[in-house]
Amino acid sequence: MRVLVVEDEDRIAGFLKKGLEEESYAVDVAFDGVSALEWVAGAQYDVILLDVMLPGLTGFEVCQILRQRSVDAPILMLTARDEIDDRVKGLDSGADDYLPKPFAFKELLARIRALTRRSASTPTTDVVLTFADLQLDTVTHKAKRGQRDIELTPKEYALLEFFLRHPRRPLSRTQVRESIWGYNYFGASNVVDVYVRHLRQKLEANGESPLLHTVRGVGYRLDDVE
Ligand code: CA
Repeated sequence: MRVLVVEDEDRIAGFLKKGLEEESYAVDVAFDGVSALEWVAGAQYDVILLDVMLPGLTGFEVCQILRQRSVDAPILMLTARDEIDDRVKGLDSGADDYLPKPFAFKELLARIRALTRRSASTPTTDVVLTFADLQLDTVTHKAKRGQRDIELTPKEYALLEFFLRHPRRPLSRTQVRESIWGYNYFGASNVVDVYVRHLRQKLEANGESPLLHTVRGVGYRLDDVE
């Protein structure tokens, strides 16, 4: 099951991501409406958790745009403002359900389960992610190319998993950095490049064909064609 969390507060976004991942959901995080639309354009989500108060586009506007674009994933609106007005507005804009903040995590999980049952989408919980001759076991965190085992550090694992969950699509350095290192990362600006370099060395240690390609002016793409 794949979830998109749209939430501008890093602390809440991080908490939701961690909690949902512990429940075996694959989670992407967008910190504003525009990037939420980009994520949705590039992937199929089983549920979208959408905060109302976002910088730029509001959650209501994002919801409306998604529905205009015929995105039919269930949308659960999250908001600190629990007035009845917002509830109506949320449902009018095409949301499926509405959860006032603060909420108990258990309550959130129950709502997500209800929504995904309703949408009757087929859950996909692949334990092993594969692409070309690359395999990544999401339980043991072991990678393989063909028969060759590859040892990964926790960050390298997270990076490779991220690419495998978004194959063949250009991912910007910012998307990668925010997903792996968080929104409030203030370390070296080239951290993504450094880790991609490490990862490439490991993936191509036996002269295998490159899988992580540089997309000029953007970032990187996992692909088996140049
Ligand atoms: Ca907010």
